[in-house]
Amino acid sequence: MPGEPQADCLFCKIVTGDVPATIVRETDTTVAFRDINPQAPTHVLVIPKAHYPDAATLAVQAPQLCADILREAGEVAAQEKVDGTGYRVVFNTGSGAGQTVWHAHAHVLGGRGFNWPPG
Ligand code: IMP
Repeated sequence: MPGEPQADCLFCKIVTGDVPATIVRETDTTVAFRDINPQAPTHVLVIPKAHYPDAATLAVQAPQLCADILREAGEVAAQEKVDGTGYRVVFNTGSGAGQTVWHAHAHVLGGRGFNWPPG
């Protein structure tokens, strides 16, 4: 079933509390926690509690969760006080783009300047 928890998924284990994480926000449908290897002063991951392997699959199979994640990305930025200067929301989608965890997630990065195009 789409959205069902996966026993071997790291982020599903963060949702259940079986893997510890520094959670900064939680809603009925999402969890936001600090990235273990931060790439900016603020680096928070926003994930759906339900399991979808990547953002593209999430968009097709559970579009409301995409809206929930983007809303939460904005809430994280405000809570972290990086919304004024600007922040970046990134969905690495596919291994060629750097995706390493196959549970959809948004990176919320802020607190420093960012280049364009990204590396
Ligand atoms: P991806 O490379 O876009 O798939 O992002 C996965 C992110 O998960 C990386 O930035 C990792 O540093 C992060 N990460 C991996 N394991 C953990 C963990 O246990 N807690 C928090 N973040 C993690």
